[in-house]
Amino acid sequence: MSFLKDFSKSLLDAINKLRGSTGDEAALKEFIRDIQRILLKADVNVNIVLEISKKLQEKIKEEPPQGFTRKDLILKELYDSLIEILGGRTKHRLQLNPDSLNVIMLVGIQGSGKTTTAAKLAYYLKNRNYKVGLVCADTYRLGAYHQLKQLAEKINVPFYGEPDAKDSIELALKGIEALSDKCNVIIVDTAGRHKNEQALIEEMKLMASKINPTHVILVIDATIGQAAYNQAKAFNEATKIGSIILTKLDGSAKGGGAISAAKATNSRVIFVGLGEKIEEFEEFDPVSFTNQLLGLGDIDLLSRKIEEARIEQKIKAEKFMRGEFNLKELVEQIKEFRKLGPLSKLLSLLPGFSIELPEDALKEAEKNLDKWEAIINSMTKEEIANPKIIDKSRARRIARGSGTDVKDVEKLLMAYNMMKRNVKRLKRLGFNVPIK
Ligand code: GDP
Ligand code: MG
Repeated sequence: MSFLKDFSKSLLDAINKLRGSTGDEAALKEFIRDIQRILLKADVNVNIVLEISKKLQEKIKEEPPQGFTRKDLILKELYDSLIEILGGRTKHRLQLNPDSLNVIMLVGIQGSGKTTTAAKLAYYLKNRNYKVGLVCADTYRLGAYHQLKQLAEKINVPFYGEPDAKDSIELALKGIEALSDKCNVIIVDTAGRHKNEQALIEEMKLMASKINPTHVILVIDATIGQAAYNQAKAFNEATKIGSIILTKLDGSAKGGGAISAAKATNSRVIFVGLGEKIEEFEEFDPVSFTNQLLGLGDIDLLSRKIEEARIEQKIKAEKFMRGEFNLKELVEQIKEFRKLGPLSKLLSLLPGFSIELPEDALKEAEKNLDKWEAIINSMTKEEIANPKIIDKSRARRIARGSGTDVKDVEKLLMAYNMMKRNVKRLKRLGFNVPIK
């Protein structure tokens, strides 16, 4: 099976296993181990795998926003991490100027897929209304001329080459000259007979200094996995106008390693080759690539929902700290706080925390939370919004309705008033609501 399908399937299997589990700590840990195994199998560098595992592990301890589970949190983290190791949220594009001549020089070691990619890119750009021409500057390999000529004929774009030429730079210059009046994009296919990064880069520099391309693209065979790191790094250091095309992502078990290695060097991957056919070629976007891997983009959706919930929670907490809360919101917020640990412990971490602060009220609040919930459920909307209207007779009615004592109702009201007064003081002391 191909890398993409294989990688995607193992990720989906792990995700479905997690979704079907109870989501307890053991299940989450097993999920993390599954992910580690899958990433390592895709040849992602072990340090990157450890980094991701650490981030996933942190989610086991974290409290999810209301309405979400730890399973959700960990899936979101996986999603974000995948996007990150595959290139981040910025999509890099090939920037062409339609009003002037663009000369694209393709470099890469022999067999990496340059000639195929030259034709794929030509076809891709032709379909986007560029006038594309192909130049064969490979004087090294027998058959290079015929290979590109055939491809050019197949996709019907102008071609320049000489079957018996000796000097590749001279040939490239002649080709550019010959095609420049009918084309605005000229793609120069080179020999790249080197197996070693440094020699390849030297050759590229020499040629680039003579033909002065507007773009240099390094073609890397993704089946080499994380070994792509050295090539991408040397290349990235050598040229400012360079970007990368990864080929054979279809056929390699190590594709993930190649993409993440390129990202680790801060290189810009702009296209990927996904098969031998001309049209098996795509612009590379880490986000949509990740969505393809994880299927249907539902984790993308989940991820956005979690973000929204967090923002909502933050707004609520900020309102709370301004003392803007009704009784119901007080109970909700105390519950939120409680998830972070005992309130008294939380407060004790604050510098300058003194006894005049409502520790008693908070302790009381913690103890009485369930009772308070019942009390509030017996109140009318008006009473919740404006507890001042709760007089003795209302308090009796509420107590009866909630199976509590009038004293409990009074205690709640007292705590509420005290909290309202005191949060403002907390805020002045620099107490910020801890938000994940
Ligand atoms: P060059 O030596 O760098 O010019 O490499 P070629 O373009 O001649 O390609 C070498 C081999 O890789 C050929 O058999 C191509 O069909 C194959 N190839 C190139 N790109 C891809 C790709 O994206 N997927 C697959 N499966 N094969 C590819
Ligand atoms: Mg070639």
